[in-house]
Amino acid sequence: MPSDTVSASDNALTLLPLPEFNSLSQAQVRGATCVWDGVPLTAETAVDLGERRVRRITERVSWFPRACRPCALKQAMDALLEHGQSCEQCVDDSSLCPVGLTLTRAIREARR
Ligand SMILES: [Zn+2]
Ligand SMILES: [Zn+2]
Repeated sequence: MPSDTVSASDNALTLLPLPEFNSLSQAQVRGATCVWDGVPLTAETAVDLGERRVRRITERVSWFPRACRPCALKQAMDALLEHGQSCEQCVDDSSLCPVGLTLTRAIREARR
């Protein structure tokens, strides 16, 4: 599958759980630094984690977190591991599980 056909809407990395929004710095919320470890990002080193929504008291806010590759890769692998332990479909045949497949794709995207 050619990787350049991946659009923002089916970015597998949007599936990854993020740290608590309120615990993040302004730079992390803006996508200037890694959402997990705060490493400064450039266009070359950043991994896009897709559009996220956060519910505030009166409104819903969209933000676009970014991460460094090592963090994105680690988070994707952890998420796949954790999912695999609790998913019957993945134990049975992981090639039929949409979540398992998407997380596997997230790992590939983080490695790119
Ligand atoms: Zn990082
Ligand atoms: Zn599964």
